[in-house]
Amino acid sequence: MSQDPWLLTPGPLTTSMSVKQAMLHDWGSRDANFIAINARMRQRLVAMIGGEDAFACVPMQGSGTFAVEAMIGAFVPPAGKLLVLINGAYGKRIARICDYYKRATAILEWPEDQLVDPAWVAKALAADTAITHVAVVHCETTSGVLNPIAEVARVVAAAGRRLLIDAMSAFGAIALDAKDVSFDAVAASSNKCIEGVPGLGFILARVDALKQCQGNAPSLSLDLYDQWQALEKTGQYRFTPPIHCIVAFDQALTEHEQEGGVAGRGARYRNNCKVLVDGMRAMGFQPLLPDHVQAPIIVTFHMPADPRFDFQAFYDKLKDRGYVIYPGKLTVADSFRIGCIGRLDESHMRGALAAIRAVMAEMGVASGSPLRQAANAE
Ligand SMILES: *Cc1c(COP(=O)(O)O)cnc(C)c1O
Repeated sequence: MSQDPWLLTPGPLTTSMSVKQAMLHDWGSRDANFIAINARMRQRLVAMIGGEDAFACVPMQGSGTFAVEAMIGAFVPPAGKLLVLINGAYGKRIARICDYYKRATAILEWPEDQLVDPAWVAKALAADTAITHVAVVHCETTSGVLNPIAEVARVVAAAGRRLLIDAMSAFGAIALDAKDVSFDAVAASSNKCIEGVPGLGFILARVDALKQCQGNAPSLSLDLYDQWQALEKTGQYRFTPPIHCIVAFDQALTEHEQEGGVAGRGARYRNNCKVLVDGMRAMGFQPLLPDHVQAPIIVTFHMPADPRFDFQAFYDKLKDRGYVIYPGKLTVADSFRIGCIGRLDESHMRGALAAIRAVMAEMGVASGSPLRQAANAE
């Protein structure tokens, strides 16, 4: 089998051969082995946030957005009001979900290259007593910025409100401990830092809060409470589960543990990120974010100023050399992104840098700098 291109993207991403091989079987959804694997998966995810008896894992068929939607629909009651903290596309998506579900919202928005600011959250909560819940994105994958989740949780708890977290692109690589950070639910998915294949989202929810969610969901298939009850009572899903994805996810969780859990996984990604950023800076490229707010998940680079640089050609030529990068999603600047996550290590990052160097030379671009330098002026 020829080597697939390496995916330097925020997911789906490159997975190990053993994760792929775990899928080479057929199971019925009532198969006892599958039911045991599913139960083990749920326990392992709760353990990852130190949730023990206080939290339950409710898996949800579909991509990550399905899990976020299920979380919002269940936790924000029809009479509730959600304050959405937005500094990128995924925060905006949460507000859109509320529009569909006709849930009242308040919005606080920051530019995509800035952190959400807990002081503003505290002010907004003091000013609007109708707000019952706050939603925040841990790593905003739009830019790669790491939001100050612990500080946000502190002001939300101090104001007596409930926190819902979209930790999709951070979960499993950046620590989130339920004993240190107060929240009601966090949503993530199989195909990001745990390095499984796409097809399953999951919500880790505080059991006492989850118990109050009955009847809130405006959607049958995404009814988190109903899904939880069915799993607790029968060990089975209400509707066809993505069995192959779940069995592969269980293998990915084993490999995550073998690497040293969140700390080990995070260390490899931080090294990937450093090698990438140092190498790109050496070629003149400029990251959007200062290092201290950059999550080691995905890095946004400004588009080079050299008129000979053509992003589509750059993308295609890198793909031909075996590396898939990611277009930008920013509104504040023309940019592209390179991911640090997936079954990739320093050698892959160095390989990608060498490919970038070669493609730049082919295009006749001397520097990745976004500044129009005097030397480049005709
Ligand atoms: C990937 C991601 C999602 C979910 O995206 P899907 O395409 O639905 O899997 C949600 N939030 C964030 C922050 C993400 O990075």
